Amino acid sequence: MKIFNTMNHRKEEFVPLEPGKVRMYVCGPTVYNYIHIGNARPMIFFDTVRRYFAYRGYEVNFVSNFTDVDDKIIKAAQEEGVDSSVISTRYIAECKKDMEGMNVMPATTHPLATQEIDGMIEMISGLIEKGYAYEVNGTVYYRVRKFADYGKLSGKNIDDLQSGNRTLLVTGEDEKEDPMDFVLWKPKKEGEPYWDSPWGKGRPGWHIECSVMSKKYLGEEIDIHGGGEDLVFPHHENEIAQSEAASGKTFAHYWMHNAFLNIDGTKMSKSLGNFFTVREVSEKYDLQVLRFFMLSAHYRSPLNFSAELMQSAKNGLDRIVTAVQRVDEMKAKAPAGELSAEAKDAVDALVKKFEDAMDDDFNTADGIAALFEMVKLANTVVTESSTADTVAYFSEKMHTLCDVFGIITEKKEEILDADIEALIEERQAARKAKNFARADEIRNQLAEMGIQLKDTREGVKWSRA
Ligand code: AMP
Ligand code: ZN
Repeated sequence: MKIFNTMNHRKEEFVPLEPGKVRMYVCGPTVYNYIHIGNARPMIFFDTVRRYFAYRGYEVNFVSNFTDVDDKIIKAAQEEGVDSSVISTRYIAECKKDMEGMNVMPATTHPLATQEIDGMIEMISGLIEKGYAYEVNGTVYYRVRKFADYGKLSGKNIDDLQSGNRTLLVTGEDEKEDPMDFVLWKPKKEGEPYWDSPWGKGRPGWHIECSVMSKKYLGEEIDIHGGGEDLVFPHHENEIAQSEAASGKTFAHYWMHNAFLNIDGTKMSKSLGNFFTVREVSEKYDLQVLRFFMLSAHYRSPLNFSAELMQSAKNGLDRIVTAVQRVDEMKAKAPAGELSAEAKDAVDALVKKFEDAMDDDFNTADGIAALFEMVKLANTVVTESSTADTVAYFSEKMHTLCDVFGIITEKKEEILDADIEALIEERQAARKAKNFARADEIRNQLAEMGIQLKDTREGVKWSRA
């Protein structure tokens, strides 16, 4: 398998640290609001990377954090007049719902920054001891110039950074030894969450979180570190500086970055206000369509979100799911018989095409093209006279490829609001007619559909569980 490594801009053969195992860390979202579909791109892509490694027989230890202490969370908490943990807990739960909708598997571990403060204090102390960090008035800074390899991931030259930074000095920065130095620990401000530390009460900087959580759950050296390309600098550059100065080892062997999800050619982001949340998109489309749309492009190519592309993703996905379901139905009825050698060869050639695409830096676009070819083949080759073994072979391979892309092929009964309301009306009528047995029956039927009823003074209210 080949992976494009941001560290040297080359596709490199993947050699794991430990045979048969992959240790990967993907930077997760800052939880102060619903995630937007830009955030969903790395979630969907790296979930597919993980699934493909599993398909290739690797045991994957996949760690992805939630950043649950941050200026934006604190601001949101102050606006609502609640503790910042209320905000982060709420949006972690909402994010997990969105992930489930997109069929993104839960990580092996989803650490929370606020639960890992001890590890951060320990790493920062170690960096101070080694001369890589220093404290001024309760703030601890990383001494960038001390780390000789600084800039190796982003290709930034330390002297260029220096001259760029000189003009960017803001208040408070004058206490730094060097404008490039970045914060590891900052002192508490009124009304903000804080922890005790050797440098007084305060909270960690963002970059140290990932270095510490990656080390704790995966070890000092990992195979793959991923995230969106906006994280290359400064976040990942700073993670390298922290982790490698602390351990003396190579932090991550492969650095993978997805390109942006754009809207009208501009990066989708909260700060620009040009975003759709996953939740909003879920009101218009099944989130499976969003997932399929994301995987239809190569992860290192920018992708523009548009109604036309979503429609074509929907059509493509429907074509695949319909074909798999047809083959599954045929399987139940197929006459006993051996696997046709011709069909096997044709299917195997397409599986090989899929693997070649995915082995080439996870080219999901070409991998999906191979799946479409398999669909086309199945639609013509699998007929009522096909043998049971032949149909079963098609079914198995189509399911396997769909699983790697996270495509759900089971029929999902869509429960429409109108259907629910019709049932509720029928229940009301039954009650009026004192047919309580029927009324209870409908209540149970709705409960099975995941619909909860509440009788209120204003009438019956319902909600989806
Ligand atoms: P954040 O919550 O901003 O730290 O972002 C969480 C993850 O989403 C990071 O890996 C970002 O690089 C990624 N991300 C944010 N916006 C976009 C976008 N428009 N396209 C692709 N990835 C993004
Ligand atoms: Zn990170």
